This record gives sequence, C-alpha cells and structure tokens, in this order.
Amino acid sequence: MRKTKVIKIGQKKIGGNNPVLVQSMCNTDTRDIRATVKQIKLLEKAGCEIIRVAVLDMKAAKAIKKIKQQINIPLVADIHFDHLLALEAIKQGVDKIRINPGNIGSKENLRKVVEACKKKRIPIRVGVNSGSLEQSILKKYKMRVTPKGLVESALKNIRILEKMNFKDIVISIKSTNVSHMIEAYQMLARKVKYPLHLGVTEAGPPSVGIIKSSVGIGTLLAEGIGDTIRVSLTGDTSEEVRVAWEILKSLKLRKRGREIISCPTCGRTQINLIKLANQVEKATEDIKKPITIAVMGCAVNGPGEAREADIGVAGGKNIGIIFRKGKIIKTVKEKDILKSLLKEINKI
Ligand code: SF4
Repeated sequence: MRKTKVIKIGQKKIGGNNPVLVQSMCNTDTRDIRATVKQIKLLEKAGCEIIRVAVLDMKAAKAIKKIKQQINIPLVADIHFDHLLALEAIKQGVDKIRINPGNIGSKENLRKVVEACKKKRIPIRVGVNSGSLEQSILKKYKMRVTPKGLVESALKNIRILEKMNFKDIVISIKSTNVSHMIEAYQMLARKVKYPLHLGVTEAGPPSVGIIKSSVGIGTLLAEGIGDTIRVSLTGDTSEEVRVAWEILKSLKLRKRGREIISCPTCGRTQINLIKLANQVEKATEDIKKPITIAVMGCAVNGPGEAREADIGVAGGKNIGIIFRKGKIIKTVKEKDILKSLLKEINKI
C-alpha cells in the first residue's frame, strides 16, 4: 500500500496503514434536515463511513450542526465559489470541507477558510474534476481534458494551500474517462504524499456505472493507490455503498458481511442453482460478520473450487452436499438445501 500522510476526519483516520474507507454523497436538499438525516442513516446501515453533503447556501450551511447531531459518521461539506459558506460550515462543526481553492474567491477569502480549518483541525479535500478544469490549464492542453492537466490543476491547488502552511489535505482528481482517471491518479500518487479519494465522476446509471467504477477504482486499489472511495451512480445512493464494499471485498482489502462464491452453472448442474444462489443471497444480506458462502452446481468441482469458503453446498442429482471448509458434513434433499444451509450458517 502507498504510504501517505494520515489525515483525521472526525473520529476516522485515513491514509497511512488505515483501511480504505467507503464514502458517499447525499442527493437530498441539505436544507431539509429530516430527509438528509434519513438518507444518511440508511447509508450508514449500508456501510457508508464518510458522508458528503452539498452546501449551496447559508441555510444549508447552518443545517450542518443539526444533521451532525443525529448521525454517527463524519460529515463533509461540498462548497463552491462562496467562502462564507465554508466558514459557516466550519463554525457548525463540519468534519471536512471539499473545495476547489481556485474557485473559492480571492486569496484573502481562501486564507480565511484555511485559518478557520487550521484552528479546528479540519482537513480540506482539493477536488479536481474533469468537468470543471480551469481555463488556463484547458488552454494549455488545446481545450482538452488530459491526465496531465488534471494533475497540474491538483498540484497548483495544493501548492496554494501549502504556501499558507496548510497540509491537512486530501486530494481527488475525478474524470468521467476511466483511462484518464487511472493515469491521473497514478501520476499524482508519485508526486504527493497526501491521501487520495478515488472515484470515476458521473459514471452513469448502475448498468455501466458499476463497471466503470469497478475498473477505475479497482485498478488503482490493486496498485495500492487510494484511501477513500466513492462509487457515483445515477440511482440509489445505498447501491453506491454496496458496490464500493464489493470492490474492497473482491480485493480482500476489507471484510464485511457475506461473500458469495457461486458457479456459472454448466451441463453438469443437476439442481436449480440460479434460484438457490439468489435465495441464499437474499436470505443472508443482513449478515454483518464476514463469512464466505459457496453455492456450486456439482460435486466434481464444487467443494474443491470453494475450499476457501466457510460453508457451502454442491449440487448432485436432486440432492445438495453441504460442506464446511471443503469437508462434507451432510447430504440433504434438494428441497431442503436452503433450510439446511441457513441452519449451518447460523451455527457459524
Ligand atoms: Fe459446472 Fe460443476 Fe463448475 Fe458449476 S461447479 S460450473 S456445475 S463444473
């Protein structure tokens, strides 16, 4: 894993040897405290560990204190253009702010925000985005968004903060172009020691967004780059969190709840495996403890392929062979597989 500076966001720490954390963003109107808290609670339940809200006006900034009182995870305020909103969010006790130092107004205004953050030990995320790259950098690269341009913008903004003796920094350089995003983060990771927040921006609806995010975020995490992640989808925010966890679990970076191993079925399958796998997935979705469950179509490869699993089933002719860590513990009729498997899971 890439060694970075450790940054504290509320009660959570990121960077260094700390685990990669899952982040999401509310799509409620922040001024609507009830709706925002309700969504954050649902996201907390899904496994969200840091939450960001958009702060568009003073009423939204002033809502932060009341929102924070009712939630259990660190709250990040996303602010553009108006430094007064950042100052108010800080006053209200926000845990981190996401700004673009280049668009928050004059140097004097930025200095006020930086000083307020220093005083309260609140980190700043410099969030560079392919959709809002500054004109000077766009012009330099013939009005095209390039990985180099994204990194240049991030470095420029970081240097502004460093010149003000502020180093409590997290950086993101999100792009809608997955290859650009990967290249930009790789470049940036070689140049700075600050923690990086990963994401593919405007990744799209779940059908494509999940794939783009998994490829972009997953590639970087596999290289040891990334300290927090956000999967952005046009859809249910809880789905973002679920996908983020699946990415982390697939790389064995974090453990949470059940992991299901199931085969694609083939000519050897003698039970209704697809139905069974779906039933097992549904029946175990609330398990919080890490457990690997294998649902395999046959005994030829089943137990062997799922040796790593804590518990599993392999189908036979109208039967299911239940095994634990690859060892057979019983054989049951096909109609009893789900019940028996769940019973064994409960024992674990
Ligand atoms: Fe086919 Fe058996 Fe492999 Fe499933 S586990 S794909 S049924 S060989």
